[in-house]
Amino acid sequence: MDINLTQEELSFQAEVKEFLSENAHKPGTDYNEWRLNWFKVAASKGGWDVPKWPEAFGGPGWSPTQHYIWEQETSRAQTPWDLPFGLSMLAPVLMNYGSKEQQNRFLPDIRDRLVNWCQGYSEPNAGSDLANLKTKAALSEDGTHYLVNGTKVWTTLAHIADWMFCLTRTNDTGKKQEGITFLLIPMKQEGIEVKPIITLGGSHSVNMVHITDVKVPVENRIGEENKGWGYAKGLLAHERTGLAGISRSIVALESLKNQAGSVKRGNGSLMDEPTFKLKVAELEADLMAVEYTELRSLANAASGNEPGPESSILKLKGTEIQQRLQRLTMEAGGIYSSAWGMSNVGPSFARSGMSGYLSSRAFTIYGGASEVQKDVVAKNVLGLKK
Ligand SMILES: Cc1cc2nc3c(=O)[nH]c(=O)nc-3n(C[C@H](O)[C@H](O)[C@H](O)COP(=O)(O)OP(=O)(O)OC[C@H]3O[C@@H](n4cnc5c(N)ncnc54)[C@H](O)[C@@H]3O)c2cc1C
Repeated sequence: MDINLTQEELSFQAEVKEFLSENAHKPGTDYNEWRLNWFKVAASKGGWDVPKWPEAFGGPGWSPTQHYIWEQETSRAQTPWDLPFGLSMLAPVLMNYGSKEQQNRFLPDIRDRLVNWCQGYSEPNAGSDLANLKTKAALSEDGTHYLVNGTKVWTTLAHIADWMFCLTRTNDTGKKQEGITFLLIPMKQEGIEVKPIITLGGSHSVNMVHITDVKVPVENRIGEENKGWGYAKGLLAHERTGLAGISRSIVALESLKNQAGSVKRGNGSLMDEPTFKLKVAELEADLMAVEYTELRSLANAASGNEPGPESSILKLKGTEIQQRLQRLTMEAGGIYSSAWGMSNVGPSFARSGMSGYLSSRAFTIYGGASEVQKDVVAKNVLGLKK
C-alpha cells in the first residue's frame, strides 16, 4: 500500500488549505450567515459542499486519498458545523433506493442545509437487536397512507428536526428483518411528541419520540414495503466509518499535548511527567495504528469496493481512542475539571473536561455498541464461527 502523496495529490492538498484559509470565519461576523455562505462557496468549487456524494448527484468525484486529505484538513480548520443525518445517512438511501420524485423533493434541501433530519431506528426494546422494532405502520384500505404508532428512543436532535427517517413494522409474521418498511415522517405535526432525555454530560441532544396515529402518505415510503431493512443496513457500514473520527482525534491529540504542556508540574509541565507522558505515547501509537487501518480501508475503496467488516474495527478502536482522549483531557485539567460549568476557574480547556468525559461514554454505544462490533470482527474478519 503506497500512502505517499503524488504530486497531483499534494497540489490538491494545497488548494484545499488555501480554500479553508480564505473562507475561515472572521471573528465578530455573523456565524450562521457565514456558515450557509461557506457551503455555497464550497458548492461553487464543484461539489465541495457534498464531498461524499457521487458525481451523478453533484459530488466532486474525489479519489479516496482526496477524501482523506479533505478530512485531515477540515478537521484542523474550523469548518462550519454540519449534521450527518440528512447529508450522509439519508441521502445515500434516497440516491440508491428513492424514486426520482423523492430525490428531487428531498435532496436539494438536504444539500442546502435548510432541513434538519433525525434517525428513528432505535426503540425501547430494539437497540443492538434493531430488527426487533415494533413501531407499527398499517396501510389504509385504499392504499393511500400508513397509520403509524409506536415509540422511538435516543433520537438525536429530534427536538430540532423537521423530518425523521423511520424504520417501521409492516409485517410481524416470519423473519423479523423481512417486515420492516422505511418511511419519511414530518416531525412538526399532531401525534408526534418529543420528550427530552438529559444525558450524563448534562446536555440535551437525545429524545424519546412518541408517534400516535400519524398518517404518512405512501409517497413517503422509500422503495418497497417490507424491504426497509436492506436499505437501512447498507448505511451502517458508512455510519461506522464516519463515527471512528480518526482525523478529529489526530487534531484533538495535538490539542491535548498543548494543553498538558501548559499545566505546570515542578520545574516543567504535565507533559514531562513520565506516567502522563506514557499514557499519551500509548494513545498516539494506537491512533497511528488505526490511522493505518483507515488508510488500508481507503486503498480498498480506491479499488471500487464498498466498506467491509473492517469498518467495525475502525468504529471500535476509533471510539475507544476518542474516550481515552477525553479522559486524558479531564486528567490534565485536574481538580479544575470538577468545577464543571464555572466560567472563571482554572485553565479554559478544563471547563468542559468533565462534561466531555461523561458525554464520551456514549461513543462506544451509539452506531452499534462495541460488543456488537466485536461480534462482527470475530465472524467476518477473523472467520470465527458463532
Ligand atoms: C447518545 C446516543 C445517541 C443515539 N442516537 C440515536 C439516533 O439518533 N437514532 C437511533 O435510532 N438510535 C440512536 N441511539 C441508540 C443506539 O444506536 C443504541 O443505544 C445502541 O444501538 C445500543 O442499543 P441499546 O441502547 O438498546 O442497548 P442494548 O442493545 O440493550 O445493549 C445493552 C448492552 O448489552 C450489550 N449487548 C447487546 N447485544 C449484544 C450481543 N449480541 N453480544 C454482546 N453484547 C451485547 C451491548 O453492547 C450493551 O453493552 C443513540 C444512543 C446514544 C447513547
